[in-house]
Amino acid sequence: MSARTMGYRSVSLDPGVDCPGSQVTDHHIVAAYDDLGAARELADRSDVVTYEFENVDATAIEVISELKPVYPSPSVLRVCQDREIEKISLREMGIGVPEFRVVKSEGEAVEAVREIGVPVVMKTTRWGYDGKGQSVVRDAGDAGSAFEGLGGSEGAPVIVEGFVDFEMEVSVVCARSLDGEMRTFPVSENVHVGGILDTSIVPARCSDAVKDEAVRIAMRIAEGLDVIGLIAVEMFVTRAGEVLVNELAPRPHNSGHYTIEGCETSQFEQLARIMVGMPMGDVGLRSPTVMVNLLGDVWESTDGAPDWSAVLGMPRTHLHLYGKSGYRIGRKMGHITVTGETVEGALVVAIAAREAASRA
Ligand code: AMP
Repeated sequence: MSARTMGYRSVSLDPGVDCPGSQVTDHHIVAAYDDLGAARELADRSDVVTYEFENVDATAIEVISELKPVYPSPSVLRVCQDREIEKISLREMGIGVPEFRVVKSEGEAVEAVREIGVPVVMKTTRWGYDGKGQSVVRDAGDAGSAFEGLGGSEGAPVIVEGFVDFEMEVSVVCARSLDGEMRTFPVSENVHVGGILDTSIVPARCSDAVKDEAVRIAMRIAEGLDVIGLIAVEMFVTRAGEVLVNELAPRPHNSGHYTIEGCETSQFEQLARIMVGMPMGDVGLRSPTVMVNLLGDVWESTDGAPDWSAVLGMPRTHLHLYGKSGYRIGRKMGHITVTGETVEGALVVAIAAREAASRA
């Protein structure tokens, strides 16, 4: 939609016939992500290509990148697709991450849990998102079953990670252009519920020192991985004020959706500008902004008919619905953004708006 606003035409590739992207692009290719013929067709029809989630097929992205520029590059995607490579790359860049071990057998899992100490979070190295492919182990005796539950016994490596008793979660979306210029969007304070992003609050309610550190880390990663495009960096702020990186996403990020109304230039427009070699836009915050996600739960509680008029009847609310074909509990269906004079005021309205939509 951002590219279109600036006059560009777009093509999408997705296995879904009526997926959200297809509803706004000029041409849609229905194909599996690992269909290399379809990937070549996408390259043929495009001047420049990006991906908007990281579980696309890395080989297809490599095939495309031999034909047309792909931003971020396939090497960035490879790092972000695998938590083991991601954590090792971060550590090599000297960036703090929670204590972790990569384990390949039940015995190693038990040993890692003993070394790190409960509680720990066990995570698959690949295909995880929104808290999927994770389990929190609070009792060391459950280490073996958690390892097995994540597919460890079928040969998939598993990350055992210390549970961070964080004060706050924050994220930074960093944009980096072809010539290496970087612009970071304002730090977002994020609240997750059940491993899924629930609320983003901007400006984040933490010290300037923490914000500066979060921005410094995001820029270091963008530079270290040679990202062209966007990279979102999710971080934990510990009670001692230390900033540790949890996860990277080489694309527009849910915690950056607030930028559509909140910032002078949205994360989407910034990516489009970078892809076509235009100057980046100003990333300044226009006003305090809060985003709340709309999961399928809102539809479940209202028999498929949320009350959008209640949302839009509230001051400074903006409704975004993605056009997904069906709802289910935990599925991200849209979000509400609220701007305000103060971040507290915007937060009160955002929570009330979602509650009003959810009332049967
Ligand atoms: P992830 O899929 O790794 O982004 O995890 C989703 C959410 O689970 C995070 O945003 C945190 O709220 C929580 N989480 C993940 N890893 C940890 C950890 N090591 N310690 C505490 N909470 C975590």
